[in-house]
Amino acid sequence: MKLIFGSANRHKLAEVSRILGPTYKVILPEDLGLTEEIPETGDTLAANSLQKASYVWDRFHLPCFADDTGLEVDALGGAPGVHTARYAGEPKSSARNIARLLSELEGVSEEKRTARFRCVVTLIIDGQPTAFDGVCEGRIGFAPVCEDGFGYDPVFIPEGFDCTMSELSMDVKNTLSHRGKAMLQLVCHLSEHHG
Ligand code: IMP
Repeated sequence: MKLIFGSANRHKLAEVSRILGPTYKVILPEDLGLTEEIPETGDTLAANSLQKASYVWDRFHLPCFADDTGLEVDALGGAPGVHTARYAGEPKSSARNIARLLSELEGVSEEKRTARFRCVVTLIIDGQPTAFDGVCEGRIGFAPVCEDGFGYDPVFIPEGFDCTMSELSMDVKNTLSHRGKAMLQLVCHLSEHHG
């Protein structure tokens, strides 16, 4: 089965392809010639996830899915939340987002740096959307470590670990991450309803 993933992020593509396994061929909109940025103007993760998946469905009328992730930092009252991707403004930049986050948290002690990633994935098949969510608890470190990961991975320390998400292998990250948990539900749904 072919699935279009409404994203331009090749890191995410690698993660979701690994979770879906060889039964599913995951392609990006740009592989089908759609190169413009997919809009995400909603007020919630669920709205953005649906908006992105619907955008792809409307273009291609093929099975597709999209995700939207927010980072909620307790010491910042849940910010950046739905504004996670553009926390440091346009254009989107992970390095500037991390710099802003660390500066907002200056002086905040380790115990008070608790945070979580929240993700909503929306699958559309035959025009019908179904949403799945996943949460990953953790805390924000004091400086970026290992810039190999993407987004906020270099400063996010998952609960129960002494290292950042960027130091984990993709398979380990997939077992505990927000997107990994949501995608696992999507895989179960596909095998139950469309297997
Ligand atoms: P979006 O879902 O692509 O809109 O992501 C929102 C923001 O969260 C972007 O800045 C991403 O880089 C970041 N983000 C999404 N998933 C992850 C992740 O697995 N690790 C770290 N940052 C992430």
